[in-house]
Amino acid sequence: MTTRQYIDDYIHIGHRRRLVQALREKGIKDEAVLGAIGKVPRHWFVGKVYEDRAYEDRALPIGREQTISQPYTVAAQSAWLRAKPQDKILEIGTGSGYQAAVLATMGMRVYTLERQEDLYVKTNTLLGQHRFGSIRCFLKDGFKGLPAYGPFDRILLTAGAAHVPAVLLSQLTIGGSMIVPVGGDHTQVMQRITRHAETEFRSEELGAFRFVPFKEGLVRRAKPVTKALRPPS
Ligand code: SAH
Repeated sequence: MTTRQYIDDYIHIGHRRRLVQALREKGIKDEAVLGAIGKVPRHWFVGKVYEDRAYEDRALPIGREQTISQPYTVAAQSAWLRAKPQDKILEIGTGSGYQAAVLATMGMRVYTLERQEDLYVKTNTLLGQHRFGSIRCFLKDGFKGLPAYGPFDRILLTAGAAHVPAVLLSQLTIGGSMIVPVGGDHTQVMQRITRHAETEFRSEELGAFRFVPFKEGLVRRAKPVTKALRPPS
């Protein structure tokens, strides 16, 4: 197996400049978000076969039936968070790690959870090899959140949820908010739920999106098939 070379040259930088321009034209105005998207090499977060398409504004497969979110979606979710540098953010659905890298590049402290061990191992390794800022990856079921590290200023769900688990809302600071796509398997409505007081939450609707589903429970790594050795006769 050859180790992957992580190159980021003027061609990639040019592609990113065009992607940032396309996002501006689609209505993204947050300069901190656009700045981070201009810096993070998205082509590192997709498989080699998709590298050439990494700067198109579209979702791409990352294995295990999951996708790296479309850049527009990453930009919109990041802007809707209205987070500031040093804020503690819980991301649920690490996937490729791209969204986490964008937020860490903006200066936020990111805690990110993934339920699939294969993706967790791959992304934790990738994020450990590069300096995007403060990111901690966990192999954990996002339905439970991360109470040991809470409360969080912001929570971001990057999978479509049929409902919002109350336990996640309980891990928000007062004044904190959660960005979450809520709905069925095929389309969801993005919501921002803000915790105004201990038991007072208000939500706003921000538009229709399409995410892979938020599913309960961990998925352990597929074990390689090994043949039992016959004892020497
Ligand atoms: N933010 C990611 C998007 C990945 S797609 C990126 O930038 O690439 C959503 C991810 O959520 C998938 O990897 C999926 O395995 C994960 N996921 C779904 N349900 C989950 C849960 N209950 N806990 C943690 N991760 C979950």
